[in-house]
Amino acid sequence: MPQSEPSPGTDQHEQEPLIRFDGVVKRFGANTVLDHLDFTVAPGERVTLIGPSGSGKTTILRLLMTLEQVTNGVIWVGGEPLSHMHRGGRLVRANEQHQRRVRRQIGMVFQQFNLFPNMTVRQNITEGPVHSLGVPRVEADRRAAELLEMVDLADKIDAHPTQLSGGQQQRVAIARALAMSPRILLLDEVTSALDPELVTGVLDVLRTVAETTDITMLLVTHEMQFARDVSHRVLMFDQGRIVEEGPPEQIFGDPRQERTRAFLHAVL
Ligand code: ADP
Repeated sequence: MPQSEPSPGTDQHEQEPLIRFDGVVKRFGANTVLDHLDFTVAPGERVTLIGPSGSGKTTILRLLMTLEQVTNGVIWVGGEPLSHMHRGGRLVRANEQHQRRVRRQIGMVFQQFNLFPNMTVRQNITEGPVHSLGVPRVEADRRAAELLEMVDLADKIDAHPTQLSGGQQQRVAIARALAMSPRILLLDEVTSALDPELVTGVLDVLRTVAETTDITMLLVTHEMQFARDVSHRVLMFDQGRIVEEGPPEQIFGDPRQERTRAFLHAVL
């Protein structure tokens, strides 16, 4: 699908990026996990992060969710600083209220589904919209039913997570993220914890999301065929730096860097 579509990232240079990493450094103690990282993501763009384990991919998603804070540099979302701002040469941490407002534009689905075990599927999906966004209950219920239809789980609306397979739980987690109407969806190895026969159902749902919405996606995945099908652009990471980036046909079909070739050789 994206092969025939122009990438939102390449065609609209004048357009303000939706996400911008500007000299982002992240250290855990003495371990520099992200090393002066610069990249942008355009509105509507779907970008896959690949690279060996420990290269910093998940940290990028966690920084965007403000589950971690940058050590240095600035992350911009929709033109607003998510983390630190430079003021008169000093680093100033964005306040929590501001972070919450910016973060509201972002939804995330994790490797572990993280559903609320004591709530039904419907409650899992409506909790955020009703309590964080103030959406009327009737409207949130209507939207939950619609989203469950999309993830092919309409009949599970009153089930509890423990009554569902891992694949079904992950599809609920996707519906729950979408119920918050995010502009950006972060997907962190969402099929890695699933039995192989459940992977296809989850990827099919994500293909539908990609085809039917203009939501911006940043995904970390080991499903290279899926990455190839849905991404506009692939970023190859190694040791906290981007070693190569390009459209999926180029990265997977004709990688320029030895590091990328070695990584793809090992995983494909
Ligand atoms: P990837 O997603 O590419 O596998 P990660 O972003 O998960 O990489 O991890 C990058 C590096 O950061 C690893 O060396 C990891 O051990 C380290 N790291 C990640 N989170 C923490 C943390 N909370 N505390 C200390 N080190 C961390």
